[in-house]
Amino acid sequence: MKGGYLFTEIVNRTKAYQAEHPDTRILRLGVGDVTRPLPAPIVEAMHRAVDELSHSDTFHGYGLENGYPWLRQAIIDNDYAPRGINLSLDEVFISDGAGSDLGNLSELFDTRNMVAIAEPSYPAYEDTSLMAGRSIVFLPCTAEHDFVPELPSVPVDIIYLCYPNNPLGVVLTREQLTRWVRYAQTNHSIIIFDAAYEAFIQSPDIPHSIYEIEGAKEVAIEVRSFSKTAGFTGVRCGYTVVPKQTGLQSMWLRRQCTKYNGTSYISQRGALATYTPEGKAAIRANIASYHATAQVLLQGLRALGYTVYGGVHAPYIWCRVPAGYTSWSFFNHLLNTCQIVCTPGVGFGASGEGYVRFSAFSRREDCEEALIRMKGL
Ligand SMILES: *Cc1c(COP(=O)(O)O)cnc(C)c1O
Repeated sequence: MKGGYLFTEIVNRTKAYQAEHPDTRILRLGVGDVTRPLPAPIVEAMHRAVDELSHSDTFHGYGLENGYPWLRQAIIDNDYAPRGINLSLDEVFISDGAGSDLGNLSELFDTRNMVAIAEPSYPAYEDTSLMAGRSIVFLPCTAEHDFVPELPSVPVDIIYLCYPNNPLGVVLTREQLTRWVRYAQTNHSIIIFDAAYEAFIQSPDIPHSIYEIEGAKEVAIEVRSFSKTAGFTGVRCGYTVVPKQTGLQSMWLRRQCTKYNGTSYISQRGALATYTPEGKAAIRANIASYHATAQVLLQGLRALGYTVYGGVHAPYIWCRVPAGYTSWSFFNHLLNTCQIVCTPGVGFGASGEGYVRFSAFSRREDCEEALIRMKGL
């Protein structure tokens, strides 16, 4: 395994620059964390939950390892049933976020199972596969193929897909996602579908869930999170859907009951509030503001002559670096000459070389200021 974690390296370089230039205002456009505060309806729900815990007649101790039924029912009723997807309560597992489940799910599989990862990718898929001692086949996503991964040329057992994609900011069409479900059916593979950015999808043609594809319940586990949807990166709550047809639901329940003692009652009450009319409206407003910031970056970078991708159904913009630069040399150049922090694409995988990622989880004024600073480049 590589020693340093990508984001630690970025933080260290940024800190070193700030230490040498204490008066400079550095613009952080690389952040993969939400920046808008929690909406009021969610905060109020969590306050009420804390109050309940402080009285003996409304106190809650351990909850179910897979989460309170009222939250699982709300997820089914709001996120799946309206799209024609029928799930039972015991197929939905509440978690402390997608991050842990994406890694822990690998415990369901034999270590000899081969993993396929569409790359560049969120680092967790590769790192947790290596920690589990598995071999990996990387599926490069390049501009020549519109960043759509090719089907594996060798048989694979576990496939990580993430749509809308981090870091590319791109999505798959229904037809493209169907090819993957058919591949998994034919090859008896399991797809681990990371839908952390589902709430950013803006077009009705783009699938929000892999279960919109017929047959996907036999071959796919879907991982979602309230982190990017509702600003829960610090609160911690997510959920994973393991359909019975995969044959893995009871094993995952057994695993969770042994190794996980449940998500905080307060977090789950906060998550439930995202499904109230006020909660939904507040979340929509937050996401609309990230979309607007993404548009500022997209159009601004295009006007400066950069080739950019993504940024419509996701908060991320994938930007080709100018000729003569690598991901890291352009990162350094932007930091040293414009005091802007981006994320080097190569940190997400070999095919990310020659790109950087900009994030709309940035302050809009900072993006506008960054575009002015970049004019002189
Ligand atoms: C942010 C993110 C997650 C969510 O992680 P949490 O642990 O739920 O905060 C999952 N997958 C991707 C690709 C992400 O970018």
